[in-house]
Amino acid sequence: MDLRYTPEQDAFRAEARAWLVGNVPSEPLRSFDTAEGFAEHRAWERRLHGGGWAMVPWPVEYGGRGADLIEWLIFEEEYYRAGAPGRVNQNGIFLLGPTIMEYGTPEQKARYLPKIAASEEVWAQGWSEPNAGSDMAAIQATAMLDGDHYVLNGQKTWASRAAFADWLFGMFRTDPDSERHRGLTFLLVPLDAPGVTVRPIAQLDGEAGFAEIFFDDARVPLENRLGQENGGWGVAMATAGFERGLMLRSPARFQRTAQRLVDLFRAQGAEVDTALRDTVVRCWMDAEAYALETYRTVSRLLGGGKIGAEASLNKIFWSELDLRMHETALEILGARTDLLPDAPAATGAGSWLDGYLFSLSGPIYAGTNEIQRNVIAERILGLPRS
Ligand SMILES: Cc1cc2nc3c(=O)[nH]c(=O)nc-3n(C[C@H](O)[C@H](O)[C@H](O)COP(=O)(O)OP(=O)(O)OC[C@H]3O[C@@H](n4cnc5c(N)ncnc54)[C@H](O)[C@@H]3O)c2cc1C
Repeated sequence: MDLRYTPEQDAFRAEARAWLVGNVPSEPLRSFDTAEGFAEHRAWERRLHGGGWAMVPWPVEYGGRGADLIEWLIFEEEYYRAGAPGRVNQNGIFLLGPTIMEYGTPEQKARYLPKIAASEEVWAQGWSEPNAGSDMAAIQATAMLDGDHYVLNGQKTWASRAAFADWLFGMFRTDPDSERHRGLTFLLVPLDAPGVTVRPIAQLDGEAGFAEIFFDDARVPLENRLGQENGGWGVAMATAGFERGLMLRSPARFQRTAQRLVDLFRAQGAEVDTALRDTVVRCWMDAEAYALETYRTVSRLLGGGKIGAEASLNKIFWSELDLRMHETALEILGARTDLLPDAPAATGAGSWLDGYLFSLSGPIYAGTNEIQRNVIAERILGLPRS
C-alpha cells in the first residue's frame, strides 16, 4: 500500500471535483423514498451517467469509466465532499452490477449493465421473507421450472426502494425437496410482471422506504437466471461480500459525517465539555482509520486478492461508527434535536435526527451485526459453531 497519490490520481480527483461542483444540485433533492424524490434522484443518476461518472470502475462498454478501485475511492471522497445526492440505484450499481460482472453471461452483461449504469432500470434486493431474515437459507418463495419459464410463488419483504423500483433480484427455491442453502436460485424479476404485487411499507419516518412483494404464478424467462439452477447461494454470497465489505458504504460517507460532527461541535461552542470533545475526536479518528483500512483492502484486491470474511469486520465497524456519530450529534444538540427543521434555532438539527433514525438500522441491514459476529467467530477466529 502506497499512501501517496500518483499525478494521474490527482488529475482524476481534480476532474471529478470540477464536474461535481458544476453539476451537483444546489438544493437537496426530496427523499428518494417518495415518488417525487425518487424521480428527482433518477434524473440525477442520468446526469451523472451523461457526465461519465455513474460507476467509474465499470468498463466503458457498460457505461463506466474503466477506472480502478483506488480511483473509485477518490471519486467517492469527492462525491461526499460535494454533498451530492444519495444513490437511488445503489442496489443496482453497488450490488447487482458487480455480481453480474462475475456470474453473468455475455448476453446478461450486455442486457443489464448499461441500463443499471444509466439508472434506466432501478433495482431492489429481494432476499428477506417473513420467516427468512438472518436465516436466509430458510427462504420459502419458490420458482418452479415450466418449459422455458420459472413460475414464482411466495413473498419477499423489507425490499428497500421496491415501492418505486423497476426490477428485483432475488433468491427463490427451485428444488422443493432441497434443504437449506442447497436448491436456491438467483433470479432477475421485473416488478411490473403479471402476478407480481408490490405493497409499500412505511418506515420509522413515515416514508415508503420498503415494500413487501407477493408472487402469484408470476412467470420469468429462463434467461433471467444468474448463475446455475440451485447454485444461487454462491452468487448471493458474492453479492453480500460487495454489500458488507466495500461498495455499499464507502468510507467517504463516514468521513463526511465525521467532518460535519466536528463542524457542529465547534459551531455549538461545545468545546467546554472535554468528555464530549474526546468522543468527537474519537469518531473522526475512527472514520479516518476506516478509510485507511479500506485503502489497504483495495490495494490487496488490486493485487489479485479477494474480499472474504473481513467484510463482516467492516460492516460492524461502519454501522457502529455511524450510530455513535449520530448519537454524539444529538448529545451536542440537546433539546434542539426536536425542533422543526425550519425553526430559527434548529441549525440543521433535522438532518441529524433523520440521520440518527436511519443509523439505527445500520446494525440490522446487510446482515445483522450479531450474524457478522458469528461469521468472525467461526471463519476468522476459528471458534466452534456451538
Ligand atoms: C433499513 C433496512 C433495509 C433493508 N433492506 C432490505 C432489502 O433491500 N432487501 C432485503 O431482502 N432485506 C432488507 N432488509 C432486511 C434485513 O436484511 C433483515 O432485517 C435482517 O437480515 C434481519 O432479519 P430479520 O429482520 O428477519 O430478523 P431476525 O433474523 O428474525 O433476527 C432477530 C434478532 O435475532 C438475532 N439473531 C438471529 N439469528 C441469530 C443467530 N444465529 N445468532 C445470533 N443472533 C441471531 C438478530 O441479530 C436480530 O437481532 C432491510 C432491513 C433494514 C433495517
